[in-house]
Amino acid sequence: MTVLPIVVHGNPVLHRPAAPVTSFDDDLKQLIANMYETQELSNGVGLAGPQVGVGLRLFTYKFDNEDGVPPLGVVVNPLLTLGKISTSEPDPEEEVEGCLSFPGYSFPLKRAEWVTVSGQDADGNPLKFDATGWFARVMQHETDHLDGKLYVNRLNPRYTKKYKKVVKAEGWTVDGNSWVPGVDPDPFGH
Ligand SMILES: [Zn+2]
Repeated sequence: MTVLPIVVHGNPVLHRPAAPVTSFDDDLKQLIANMYETQELSNGVGLAGPQVGVGLRLFTYKFDNEDGVPPLGVVVNPLLTLGKISTSEPDPEEEVEGCLSFPGYSFPLKRAEWVTVSGQDADGNPLKFDATGWFARVMQHETDHLDGKLYVNRLNPRYTKKYKKVVKAEGWTVDGNSWVPGVDPDPFGH
């Protein structure tokens, strides 16, 4: 297994829709194994293909959930059915999200409280489950990556201003920034 560099905001692969996975071959299995390894070393709860520079519709996750779903898994070609997203202000303590491709920062954001996830497993077999609470949030965050969207693209006007300042200050307007889990310092201090 190989640890893959995680690309950062500004890399075009993060900002365009990913392509559906069509071959469930050894290359895909190798990619998934490397994503698990990278996810583990990054202390992340999820990792989407584009975050390791691969524009394919799949993500891995690691999350102890109360929905009876295996705590470690991969979803290929996911499709989400969402519950309602509240329009009230996000709680700045309880609803704070972060992203390995926007390292070191976090911002509050409302998400749907439940989702139904359908898609495929690593072998192409159909897969379907419900996710609630934070697990639902992880599913929404990772699927967004496959649509070329980062969570910062969903922030309210107040936090949008803040994240744009960060992008400027960090030089994340251009391609070329990345970090390697297990090699570079953990950006979230885990
Ligand atoms: Zn992310």
